[in-house]
Amino acid sequence: MTPQKLYRSMPSAKNRAALIAALVCALFANLAFAQTAADQAKLTNLATPVAAPALVNINTIPAKKLFGRQVLPAAMPPHAIGTYALGCMAGAQALPVTGPNWQVMRLSRHRNWGLPQLNTLLERLAADAKQNAGWNGLLVGDMGQPRGGPMLTGHASHQIGLDADVWFTPMPNHVLSPYERENMVPLEMVKDHLHINPDNWSESRAKLIKTAASYPEVGRIFVHPPIKAALCKWATGDRTWLAKVRPLYGHTFHFHIRMNCPPGMKSCKDQWKPAPKDGTGCGDELAYWMGPIPWTPHKRDPNAPPYVPPPPLTLRGLPAECRAVVQAP
Ligand SMILES: [Zn+2]
Repeated sequence: MTPQKLYRSMPSAKNRAALIAALVCALFANLAFAQTAADQAKLTNLATPVAAPALVNINTIPAKKLFGRQVLPAAMPPHAIGTYALGCMAGAQALPVTGPNWQVMRLSRHRNWGLPQLNTLLERLAADAKQNAGWNGLLVGDMGQPRGGPMLTGHASHQIGLDADVWFTPMPNHVLSPYERENMVPLEMVKDHLHINPDNWSESRAKLIKTAASYPEVGRIFVHPPIKAALCKWATGDRTWLAKVRPLYGHTFHFHIRMNCPPGMKSCKDQWKPAPKDGTGCGDELAYWMGPIPWTPHKRDPNAPPYVPPPPLTLRGLPAECRAVVQAP
């Protein structure tokens, strides 16, 4: 468009004045409206009764969500409630993430909580293993959540503050960074479910397990079956400690220490635990785990009705005291 054409398209001086007046009016009208709308919103907020938030019914929340999101322990006296795989924990303590002879791994999982008895036991094992087994220090894996209970991921047990996983990898000589604790790859002790990995397995590891099994407070230690086989082959002299070391799937890079219920802790339910008949578990029990049955996938009966998963576990399915634990300050 040429300058002349542009000039001609513009309104006359009189019309321009009228146009500007109309624009200014519209602007003020808009401001006035905005003012009124803001005030109205304020008034409405004050005058309109606010609906009470819907009460959350904790009976319907899956227990693993209820316990999995806890970040602090229940401020109550320390107590294990229920069984290792169906219960919760009051008055938990955090194991310090760095100790003289141990370091806690995978800090993001926030599972370094246990009864004070468990923390004391781990500290003692860390010191004894250094002396008896030449073990530099413990790398501690999962213990429990701040209030125990079911977890969103991982274990079926570890619910009452008496279970702890310890890596078969010795502690390095430096304080690990949070990144290292999160990403360090543990050493695998087995080649497969029947064979130990001779490159990684060692006598110091056997002595570490023997030390842990020697404590009367320890009820069981779980290891992958070929590790139990290696221990049966290694142990001489008094072999009774072997009865506590039980084969179980999944314990290839760590072993699992389970303490007995502390004496007098009435709400804590010890598990049914017959000792292996041969006194060590190196006979029939080990043979079962080294045989095909535990490793054969279960075949579904084609005539069975379609599988319907059970509803998720809620507070109602846990011991009654766990309600107070989850609601405690
Ligand atoms: Zn475990």
